[in-house]
Amino acid sequence: MSESLTTVLAHAGDGQAEKKYRGYASVPEVQPVYMTSVFAFDDVKSVDDIYEGESEGYVYARMHHPNNEAAAEALAFADKAEAGLVFSSGMAAIILSILSVVKTGDHIVSSPVLYGGVRDYLENELKRFGVDVTFTDFGDPENVRAVIRPNTRIVYTETISNPLMQVADYPVIADIAHENGALFFIDNTFASPIVANPVKYGADLVLYSATKYLGGHSDLVGGAATGSAGLISGIKKKLTLYGATLGAAESWLLSRSLRTLDLRVTKQSENALKIAQFLEKHDAVEKVYYPGLESAPEHALAEKLFNNGLYGGMLSADIKGGEAAAVKVVNNLGFIKYVPSLAGTATSVSYPAKTSHRAYSREELEKAGISLGQLRFSAGIEDADDIINQLESALGSL
Ligand SMILES: *Cc1c(COP(=O)(O)O)cnc(C)c1O
Repeated sequence: MSESLTTVLAHAGDGQAEKKYRGYASVPEVQPVYMTSVFAFDDVKSVDDIYEGESEGYVYARMHHPNNEAAAEALAFADKAEAGLVFSSGMAAIILSILSVVKTGDHIVSSPVLYGGVRDYLENELKRFGVDVTFTDFGDPENVRAVIRPNTRIVYTETISNPLMQVADYPVIADIAHENGALFFIDNTFASPIVANPVKYGADLVLYSATKYLGGHSDLVGGAATGSAGLISGIKKKLTLYGATLGAAESWLLSRSLRTLDLRVTKQSENALKIAQFLEKHDAVEKVYYPGLESAPEHALAEKLFNNGLYGGMLSADIKGGEAAAVKVVNNLGFIKYVPSLAGTATSVSYPAKTSHRAYSREELEKAGISLGQLRFSAGIEDADDIINQLESALGSL
């Protein structure tokens, strides 16, 4: 049968050539981007077999595709977890993971110090579904024990808090959750799998904004979760249902980024420690918040829980002179740009009172320990001396 021009062109670049390539000895050095929404079959039985779990294969890209599986597998390995999943954003990862285990009448115990969107979700949005949330200070794990209830389904916190970089005793918190039949979820975005692997200390689910260290180049938005195979498989059903799957291009970028995760986060952590030590000694600086500093209240705990003597790339500092001084520093930071996100290869500065915690009133800011003179730094992979010279010059402008 010879097809017409229209028919032949309608098939240009379709996936049928894959069958031919499978017989070749060579494979692409890097996984191709599978820019396809769906997979094609020659017969009915092949699709039946995949749905019945009798054979492996892809059907539809909202369910899964080779690119998001590759990224999820690498992440699960990095986190020493049984399984992983990637999502279209960190918020999607967190919300779908929570939704997949709670029902009306359930209760959550959470730290109040959370990424703004997550705090908003727990405090305001979940109420509509009849899920109650109690916020308590996780600085003392006994506070968690005091408010946990028989219907508590999730205990939720972050490995390193924003912007004060506090580290809670999460192995103890995980135990308290489990003794009460609850799951322990932890957002490990600020630490990354290089600095902390909470699964080792009993976390049931580790959550990420992949937009930050996992992506690491300020060029993708994504999310991830790692944990036990059972929990991940339940979340995957909701992910497919709600349709927050990470697309092929972003998944590909994420895998590309994971190849250098260890190198980047190691350098960023080393640079952050040098910056913290420099700022701590500087006359224009009131206080520095970084768990890697000997002076940090949680230094010993962080040293015990974190990997390879690394404490992550994030730190904050109170600049003497409040808002006027902080603004002057930001405006004089040269190659260190004001970026209301974090974890890129370039060092950046953020201003919590004016970005991530903008919704807080003066009183709330004060209660949370966030001053108008407080700046947050995300250490990049540049030469540490260059970063310090740039900071020295900005602080010298005061
Ligand atoms: C950015 C961030 C999120 C939200 O992730 P998105 O990728 O922006 O949806 C959640 N938690 C933490 C700690 C974050 O920094």
